Amino acid sequence: MSEPDDQAAIVNYKFHHIDTSKCAQCQDFSCEEACFRGIYEVINKKSTPECTVVEDREDRCVKCHICTTACKYRAILID
Ligand code: SF4
Ligand code: SF4
Repeated sequence: MSEPDDQAAIVNYKFHHIDTSKCAQCQDFSCEEACFRGIYEVINKKSTPECTVVEDREDRCVKCHICTTACKYRAILID
């Protein structure tokens, strides 16, 4: 795993880690569509978008990595 860059703003959940500095430039929000378990919700879509993990849904993750592939900014890390 590469080191986060200086601009990184990592939000840590139990085992998801999201670099919200990358979300801020996102326009397609592909993480929401990609996760068939409904784990992500992108907030502030019209201003400064930020991917969040929906409370109580994180444990639904099956670690399929569809989301990490779908996010072209590579903002999502899963342990
Ligand atoms: S996680 Fe990726 S796809 Fe989702 S809002 Fe952030 S940058 Fe966009
Ligand atoms: S790894 Fe799969 S189940 Fe887990 S958050 Fe990503 S798309 Fe959803």
